[in-house]
Amino acid sequence: MDETAIAARFRLKVRCFNCKVDTIHTVDVPVADDAPDGIDELLDSQLLRNQRFTCRSCDAAIGVIVGVTEDREGIYA
Ligand SMILES: [Zn+2]
Repeated sequence: MDETAIAARFRLKVRCFNCKVDTIHTVDVPVADDAPDGIDELLDSQLLRNQRFTCRSCDAAIGVIVGVTEDREGIYA
């Protein structure tokens, strides 16, 4: 068993509410019965609500998700 197995990997583009700088955040979804499968499910998921955002430029804690892509290649990289 691979304990680090993930079901999906997403890249979130998050814009800082304060300084408007975009940063990319990688979210790994662990293998689980209720793991989100697809971007729509991810956006609805508790997993995403648990993500903590801190701007790398100004340390603001509020970010707005402006884009999400699913990265199927990255899982095995
Ligand atoms: Zn910022």
